Amino acid sequence: MHIVVCVKQVPDTKIIKINPKTNTLDRRSAPAILNPYDAHAVQEAVKIRKMVGEGTISVLSMGPPQATAVIKKSIEIGADKGYLISDRAFAGADTLATSYALSKALERIAKEEPVDLVICGLHAIDGDTGQVGPGIARRMDIPPVTNVIEVTELNEKEKTILLKRKLANGYQLIQADYPCLMTVGKEINEIEYSPMPNMIKAARYEPIIWSVNDLENVNRPQLGLKGSPTIVGKMFTPPKPEGGKRLEGNSDEQVNQLMEVLQDKKELFLTAR
Ligand SMILES: Cc1cc2nc3c(=O)[nH]c(=O)nc-3n(C[C@H](O)[C@H](O)[C@H](O)COP(=O)(O)OP(=O)(O)OC[C@H]3O[C@@H](n4cnc5c(N)ncnc54)[C@H](O)[C@@H]3O)c2cc1C
Repeated sequence: MHIVVCVKQVPDTKIIKINPKTNTLDRRSAPAILNPYDAHAVQEAVKIRKMVGEGTISVLSMGPPQATAVIKKSIEIGADKGYLISDRAFAGADTLATSYALSKALERIAKEEPVDLVICGLHAIDGDTGQVGPGIARRMDIPPVTNVIEVTELNEKEKTILLKRKLANGYQLIQADYPCLMTVGKEINEIEYSPMPNMIKAARYEPIIWSVNDLENVNRPQLGLKGSPTIVGKMFTPPKPEGGKRLEGNSDEQVNQLMEVLQDKKELFLTAR
């Protein structure tokens, strides 16, 4: 079983600031981290490998040379090897161009060892579109299953996988043939402490770095800014909600004050039961 997990280096959005003049992210204001959803994706790959007894976990990232840090972090969690595609030709890519470049890298990885499962995070905490996973699946012509919260069963003989998806108002069980792609959220597992051998391996590990020339049958106009039809029209911080009134006193007094506010606004609807 060969599982490839796509991992993205993102700025820590709990800390990052938006430049109020240019309305762009000030990437220097926050440290770069492994997209938290992708950490859960790697952890799930480790769980699946345990479930089936053996297998290879590769991670794949597209980004600048310093994105090797997220590959090392993934090795710490339990991945076996990591690929970074890094080239000026990929710069300025939107989700269409990103998924194209990643699918071309997956094609090359599959030549080394056929790929059974691709796992992506549900979304990246910076770009936040959730489009890259399904975009890769479309290009690889494999089924995508999004927002998976549990890998229920995997049948290696039949090459099928049973996945539990979370929907807005319930759950869905999907049986997919694999190779397939799934995207996972944080609910799927708990990140475990990395064992010492993994940490030592990660510290010594040299990720495999590919440029655009290492990928085959690439249509260059589909890469980077040239291959990106999306235009970000405007980016801004939403205005903070105005006003608000702090309720004072004990709980009875607070309830009375709240009733007054609601009655004032004619927003109180009482339903007889
Ligand atoms: C016009 C335009 C120009 C842009 N220019 C730049 C730029 O110059 N530099 C820049 O950093 N961003 C740029 N972006 C943002 C960039 O398009 C997105 O960050 C990227 O396409 C991924 O989309 P997302 O963050 O919404 O990922 P999502 O679709 O939310 O990510 C879902 C999952 O896909 C996988 N994934 C996503 N991206 C990667 C990746 N790079 N490597 C491996 N796995 C990945 C991960 O598993 C992730 O959890 C630009 C966007 C636009 C619209």
